Amino acid sequence: MSKMKIVVLGAGYAGLRTVKGLQKKNLNADITLINKNDYHYEATQLHEVAAGTQPAKKISFDVKDVINDNKVKFIRGTVKLIDKENKQVQLKKGATVDYDYLVVALGFESESFGIKGVDEFGWPLVDIKTAEAAKEQLDKNIRNYQHSLDEKDLSIVVCGAGFTSIEYLGEITNRLPRLADSYKFPIDKIKITCIEAMPSLLPMFSSNLSDYGVGVLKQRGVNFLVGTPIKEIKADSVVYEEDGELKEVSASTIIWTTGVRGSSVIGASGFEERRGRVMVEPNLTVPGHPEIFMIGDVSAVMDEANGRPYPTTAQIALGQADQVVENMELAIQGKELKSFTFKSLGTVASLGNNEGIGHSFNKDWKGWTASVMKKGIVDKSLLQVGTPSLLMKKGRFDFWH
Ligand SMILES: Cc1cc2nc3c(=O)[nH]c(=O)nc-3n(C[C@H](O)[C@H](O)[C@H](O)COP(=O)(O)OP(=O)(O)OC[C@H]3O[C@@H](n4cnc5c(N)ncnc54)[C@H](O)[C@@H]3O)c2cc1C
Repeated sequence: MSKMKIVVLGAGYAGLRTVKGLQKKNLNADITLINKNDYHYEATQLHEVAAGTQPAKKISFDVKDVINDNKVKFIRGTVKLIDKENKQVQLKKGATVDYDYLVVALGFESESFGIKGVDEFGWPLVDIKTAEAAKEQLDKNIRNYQHSLDEKDLSIVVCGAGFTSIEYLGEITNRLPRLADSYKFPIDKIKITCIEAMPSLLPMFSSNLSDYGVGVLKQRGVNFLVGTPIKEIKADSVVYEEDGELKEVSASTIIWTTGVRGSSVIGASGFEERRGRVMVEPNLTVPGHPEIFMIGDVSAVMDEANGRPYPTTAQIALGQADQVVENMELAIQGKELKSFTFKSLGTVASLGNNEGIGHSFNKDWKGWTASVMKKGIVDKSLLQVGTPSLLMKKGRFDFWH
């Protein structure tokens, strides 16, 4: 029997975990992994790179450190299109790759919600390059203040108050005193504004936890504008609406973390999607395409308990990957595939290096304990997508820092 061709797109949490699992199985198949870069990054830690509290190399590692060359062929390339009819993946540089089974795990992109100026003037945090660029922008503006003495160079606006925004604020407020010290300006000259359209902050946590988290950030100088939708991003200001009136905050650093969408390859390839995500079958295949599995941030899985899709998270991406490995084997054997089930282990948000909030094991956690839990989660995920040696090199053991 000729060998099956399995192609996995994306080496994020979902894709790399899938490849790790597939290479352990003795499938009569050629396995190919295609990824834009030759490295994997821990997307859940991008806010640290953007704030400048961790270097990019701390949260990334070579794909080759994980894959077994004898079992997996790695192609560094950018996927342009999935041709479902001809079972072929087209890469940006023109090459094509055929598949019998495809695992699509192309992850997330920044969502502008059609707001004017976002793509030109907002700094998103969606991969290593954008996180490093956001850091460079902030550092450049702070250096610039030394001769410009223009207060907008010391003004940072964080757009949105979701998970990424809050974790970024936690990091940046940790680093700013050091920056103020290095560049010799009073810390109280820095203005940090977080603008959120929704009427409440951190709705995924209990009010006790969200009040605590917001309180920590306010104490470190963050000014929250809540229930104030952003209307436009300009080169050096953000326009928002408050009580029916348009208002503006000047800032040279504008961090765009209002939300993400699935990869634009999904829409371009003609899948039935919403914001780059496909509502998959319970067994994680695409409706009408039993040969295509779609997982991670490009997929939406219905939570039967409340009739709404689960939020897209690394936790769910890793669980889906394990299900795909099992289902791939069943599919090749001609057996019935199993449904994906998900039980959340909880949610923990960091607020800088040694503060956090979280809900896990049916309990609320805050302060240092939550920050230790967060580092434990990062370490666990390094083991899930990486190796014990990568955990030793890249892991977070600075619990008492
Ligand atoms: C700052 C931040 C904090 C977060 N915190 C948490 C948290 O605490 N807990 C949690 O569970 N989740 C968290 N998330 C969400 C989590 O990071 C995502 O849900 C997760 O990364 C999704 O995994 P994925 O494998 O689907 O995609 P990604 O991690 O986005 O991986 C996709 C991969 O595909 C590659 N790729 C993309 N496009 C192409 C292309 N066209 N061609 C080739 N390769 C391509 C990318 O380079 C990348 O390697 C956080 C996200 C952010 C940004």
